[in-house]
Amino acid sequence: MQTAMIAPAVQQLYEYFSGGTTRSIAWRKQQLNNLQQMIDDSEQAIFEALREDLGKAEQESWLSEVGYLQTDIRHSLRHLSKWSSPRKVSTPVVAQPGKSYLQPEPLGTVLIIGAWNYPFQLLLAPLVAAISAGNCAVLKPSELAPATSKLLATLLPRYLDSKAFLVVQGAVEETTELLRQPFDHILYTGGEAVGKIVMRAAAEHLTPVTLELGGKSPCIVAGDCDLDVAAARIVWSKWMNAGQTCVAPDYILTEKGFSGPLMSALQKQLTAFYGTDPATSPDYGRIINQRHFQRLQECLSDQRVSFGGQTNPAERYMAPTLVLDPPLKSKLMQEEIFGPILPVISLEKIDDAIPFINNRPKPLALYLYTENQAFEQQVLTRTSAGSVCINDGMMFMANPQLPFGGVGNSGMGRYHGQWGFDTFSHLKAVMKRSNWFDINWRYPPFSAAKLKKLKWVS
Ligand code: NAD
Repeated sequence: MQTAMIAPAVQQLYEYFSGGTTRSIAWRKQQLNNLQQMIDDSEQAIFEALREDLGKAEQESWLSEVGYLQTDIRHSLRHLSKWSSPRKVSTPVVAQPGKSYLQPEPLGTVLIIGAWNYPFQLLLAPLVAAISAGNCAVLKPSELAPATSKLLATLLPRYLDSKAFLVVQGAVEETTELLRQPFDHILYTGGEAVGKIVMRAAAEHLTPVTLELGGKSPCIVAGDCDLDVAAARIVWSKWMNAGQTCVAPDYILTEKGFSGPLMSALQKQLTAFYGTDPATSPDYGRIINQRHFQRLQECLSDQRVSFGGQTNPAERYMAPTLVLDPPLKSKLMQEEIFGPILPVISLEKIDDAIPFINNRPKPLALYLYTENQAFEQQVLTRTSAGSVCINDGMMFMANPQLPFGGVGNSGMGRYHGQWGFDTFSHLKAVMKRSNWFDINWRYPPFSAAKLKKLKWVS
């Protein structure tokens, strides 16, 4: 779409929202069913686009993108009527007789900006929430995953109400123009630098924002963990999508004396998953583009690689790589890795993991592998993170009852399940008083007796 066309197109969505069609629960359910139908009809095309953009294996695409979204749609269809019904709250004695409740209402027209690493799911899961809450939406897929972006721009208008939803493909110029529009909410997924641009632009219109950002997510592995299970789960969650996952474990914190057995277990598991030459494994992905590939190579340039490290720039291939005890001031430990390199840091004792984490920006996810409940409680109560998963990696994402979002530098706001519905709704506070009787204690003329009664009932 030409940049000049963006403002009038968005204006049409505002007008459509004002007409009230999107408020109907039946309409919302129809849109969700249509989205489900789109996925059913186009599963193969979606898999192909994801393979083209990121070299994703079909099963991985199903698990983390297509299947994930289908579950999300089903969950929303099942609960949407309840979520959108008034939510009763109690009423204090001073306001009796009366009743109080929260009435969810759609925000209006929202903007959803997606990232490239899960280009299908990260754009459409917020859309499921926006539809459930009865909004119109503009979708901006990431230009860094062009095959998926193009496919979504072709498919969505065929299945969804095109008066309510608009896909705008493009890069900085198009996004900048979108950000000039007075949306009712913006949900952005991506890096911190652009997150600040989004928030600054939103401030112009006092538009609320949800920022789904990233950062370095630590993974604490204590010597008392079940090592074989831990190794399988760490390898699965780190090297899915070649490490290009916002909630992938960014680095491991373990204790001296345990790093040896842990490194061996990780290597054994990597070979079990991807063979002795992961370049030939159909299950191992590729780096999104040359810029990110070079960034990752720079991360490795001053490191002593313990395992892996092979690359093929022409294919943007980087082998699963382990680095033991990198300098903490190196690029690898200063920036989010967002690729297939896993540093393992050995600490004097495992409790040192707590100050290590607290001395750095608050992470999006924190992983802990231990059988020691006292240590588990210490980590939970003394550190902060968007989400915590104990004895697994990323599986918390599979539960729509849990909100997903960061804290501090890893983001603000949340979605998934009802949390997403609430993000795209205004929970209007309503009190309805009865006219049955009208006590005059709050009305002038004031008196000591009236005040005494007020204090008594408050
Ligand atoms: P990206 O490059 O795809 O950018 C995200 C979006 O921002 C794109 O749609 C892009 O067009 C837009 N954009 C880029 N530059 C812009 C500019 N100058 N002005 C306006 N818009 C602009 O994604 P990225 O930033 O490389 O994503 C990687 C980061 O995202 C990592 O930090 C990762 O951890 C984080 N991430 C977070 C989540 C989450 O759910 N919390 C999910 C995926 C990725």
